[in-house]
Amino acid sequence: MKLPSSVTLCEVGLRDGLQNEKTILSTDEKVELLKGLIDAGYKVIEVGSFMHPKAVPQMADTDEVYKRVGDVPGVELRALIPNLRGVQRAIDCGCKKVKLNVSASRAHNLKNLNMTPEESVAGFAGCVEAAAANGIAISGSISMPFASPWEGRTPVEDVDAIIEAYLKVGITEISLSDASGMAVPNQVGDLCAHVLEKYPQASWWLHFHNTRGMAVANIIAAMEAGMTRFDSSFGGLGGCPFVPGAAGNVSSEDVIHMCDEMGVETGVDVVKVMALSRRLRDLLDHNLESYVLRAGRSCDLIGSQSK
Ligand code: ZN
Repeated sequence: MKLPSSVTLCEVGLRDGLQNEKTILSTDEKVELLKGLIDAGYKVIEVGSFMHPKAVPQMADTDEVYKRVGDVPGVELRALIPNLRGVQRAIDCGCKKVKLNVSASRAHNLKNLNMTPEESVAGFAGCVEAAAANGIAISGSISMPFASPWEGRTPVEDVDAIIEAYLKVGITEISLSDASGMAVPNQVGDLCAHVLEKYPQASWWLHFHNTRGMAVANIIAAMEAGMTRFDSSFGGLGGCPFVPGAAGNVSSEDVIHMCDEMGVETGVDVVKVMALSRRLRDLLDHNLESYVLRAGRSCDLIGSQSK
């Protein structure tokens, strides 16, 4: 099997996870978890979002979290933004990396925003300009590039059109986000190979939700196609407000454990992440979707059966 020698993981639980929780964590608790994630070895972490606080009250204090943690050398702390107002909030609180998002579903985008996905992306030009003028790096995400609950499989031409719109406004770091959890490995492998070949100027992130238990298989398929950057969420926390029945992102500890066992370097300490997931479970007071948290590491079993 052709696997990379190392991968980069972005922890998205503080944003994609917590935004779907009824319990709103305090700023102190978020800062504690964020510092724990940095200590565990993460070099990329999605801290929160600059959405309207009425729309996403769980993320209302993202600015405050940034101010409290400050710049951490060698660690990219990114935030999701909806528009130019988000860039302004990033400037004001010292955030140095923002991410925009568009849905690849034409029906979804037309219904919610009355625009095609490409028109949405073209509208991001002002964000790119403002970010560049203030030393903020910017990336773009495409949600549901594999399939959506409204239109089924997403045509590759539609994904190409969105990628080209991103490149046109000057965004070259692009995330393919299976928010609906409908992607399957052969489709993932094909789309990853396609974009790597067609857009060598771009860099890629993959973001899989584990709604139908396919996330780890999809990560493997993407790795085999040559992808090396993946989002995951501690404790498998999360969901998607637009997608019926959506489960959280693939659990970070499951991905790190798999990589450890396969000899793929992540730079992240799985034991520390498991401890943080247990802390998260206590804070949120419910069980989490994580195999390794339930079963322990494979290497912890060896020898224990004979005792
Ligand atoms: Zn997500």
